[in-house]
Amino acid sequence: MAIIITDECINCGACEPECPNNAIYEGGAEWRYADGTSLTGMVNLPDGSPVNADEDKDPVDMDVYYIVPSKCTECVGFHDEPQCAAVCPVDCCVDDEDIRETEDELLAKKDFMHLD
Ligand code: SF4
Ligand code: SF4
Repeated sequence: MAIIITDECINCGACEPECPNNAIYEGGAEWRYADGTSLTGMVNLPDGSPVNADEDKDPVDMDVYYIVPSKCTECVGFHDEPQCAAVCPVDCCVDDEDIRETEDELLAKKDFMHLD
């Protein structure tokens, strides 16, 4: 599963710089696959669908920091535990029960986003 930020977030910003995939954005901010990854221009997502990595995507949340599920690897490939959850002062970075992924799927997602 990916990690999700609940509405208990106090907008402290501590988690954002800790994410190795740049999957965390401030509420209301647009996001891009290209941010903090090797992706640029037209790419095919792991599910095969084409996307422009440089295109601005609509914010997932307008009020509090949010995580882009398709960029979150639960920190697999980088760290032993989700770094956002480790630094969050109010423990509002929690498992997203709706998004289930295997370790292999998370590693494939990491390899897709990062060439090295
Ligand atoms: S679990 Fe890791 S990859 Fe996912 S949002 Fe948090 S810091 Fe980023
Ligand atoms: S560390 Fe926690 S409280 Fe601070 S911005 Fe991130 S999710 Fe919100």
